[in-house]
Amino acid sequence: MMKIAMNIPLVEMDGDEMTRILWQWIKDILILPHVDLKTEYYDLGLKHRDDTDDRVTFESAEATKRLGVAVKCATITPNAARMPEYNLKQMWKSPNGTIRAILDGTVFREPILVEGIQPNVTVWKKPIVLARHAYGDVYRNTEFKVPGPGRAELVFTDTEGKTTRQVIHEFKGSGVIQGMHNTDESIASFARSCFLYALDRKMDLWFATKDTISKIYDHAFKDIFQEIYEAEFKTRFAAFGLEYFYTLIDDAVARVMRHEGGFLWACKNYDGDVMSDMVASAFGSLAMMTSVLVSPEGFYEYEAAHGTVQRHYYQHLAGRETSTNAIATIFAWSGALRKRGEIDRLPKLTAFADKLERASLLTIEEGVMTKDLAQMSTLATRKSVNSKQFLEEIGTRLDRLLSE
Ligand code: NAP
Ligand code: MG
Repeated sequence: MMKIAMNIPLVEMDGDEMTRILWQWIKDILILPHVDLKTEYYDLGLKHRDDTDDRVTFESAEATKRLGVAVKCATITPNAARMPEYNLKQMWKSPNGTIRAILDGTVFREPILVEGIQPNVTVWKKPIVLARHAYGDVYRNTEFKVPGPGRAELVFTDTEGKTTRQVIHEFKGSGVIQGMHNTDESIASFARSCFLYALDRKMDLWFATKDTISKIYDHAFKDIFQEIYEAEFKTRFAAFGLEYFYTLIDDAVARVMRHEGGFLWACKNYDGDVMSDMVASAFGSLAMMTSVLVSPEGFYEYEAAHGTVQRHYYQHLAGRETSTNAIATIFAWSGALRKRGEIDRLPKLTAFADKLERASLLTIEEGVMTKDLAQMSTLATRKSVNSKQFLEEIGTRLDRLLSE
């Protein structure tokens, strides 16, 4: 049989531990038999990052700007314990942080819904996609422990040396203060990424802050979103019958709990941190959550939302059987292949991505799944299989779908 052709390569970012093992199996069992796969390969495994003084991470992000679409395996963010384990020269920064800084993007996280795994919130029928602003606010704050009585002030000095000052608080005793910031440029690029993604996925966009209390800071977010919407997106949204609306964060949370889903929820940095873990766990599992970084210029980087599944990897190294769920990593590949197919106008590649996802979900719906899902599934008959068997079972169904 003829393999499906590609023109422009994907940027392939390999990673670490159990997900690195799954990565190779996914390619061997599910992709290479059917697709004449073209990738530009970057090894972001910790050993090679260390060998290249982390240059490989920068190069892979630059390649994404050149080629437009990347697929990334989970990677270790080194901590103290990893220093002796990998004999590292330095405690290298998080690759995701580095890539995000270069692409200046927004991260969208989406749960994968499947029959038999019920969201804890029973009214949720469709995915709720979360967009988290990845710059500033409390994540770039300056804090001070006030030792005793005194005046705290907010001082700004412009480039000419002119200052403005405001009293924060006249302390009568000890306490704490915090300064934080954001930039119009970063907020605007966050807003554009959200509007573009909502259009791409044909979803309504919700955005919420606390502008009634934070009349300047949060209000700036609200205004920038509104201005960009009016100027650049309103007619395009209308053309697809899509809606953008702004509400207060507490109202948004209450509405999310009563809504059936199927929308994009844009959150400020801290709200996004908290809400994405709430949404992910209420939908079922981190192993069923994909993540895509979208830059304002329209570059895409797809990955699973979970980490390298370290505990399973040590089990694997010890020669014991693992039952690691590859779904989110498969969907990272299918997302990237589909995007390549859309951009390069390769309908066969797009159709392959759809069938790969269909085969993956069909496998679970027919009762064959990894242990993590078997524990949650409400299906009457279910069989739990090991990591590789799961991929082979998906492969059998993929062959069937492709030959129809
Ligand atoms: P993790 O890899 O997400 O795994 C945490 C636990 O969640 C696992 O031990 C497992 O539970 C369960 N789990 C996660 N994914 C699963 C899957 N696909 N199938 C089945 N179970 C799954 O987080 P971690 O172990 O805390 O972190 C390991 C490494 O990943 C760290 O070095 C961290 O830096 C890195 N990390 C990378 C990324 C990224 O590259 N985007 C994100 C997060 C973390 P059980 O053990 O109970 O089976
Ligand atoms: Mg968090």
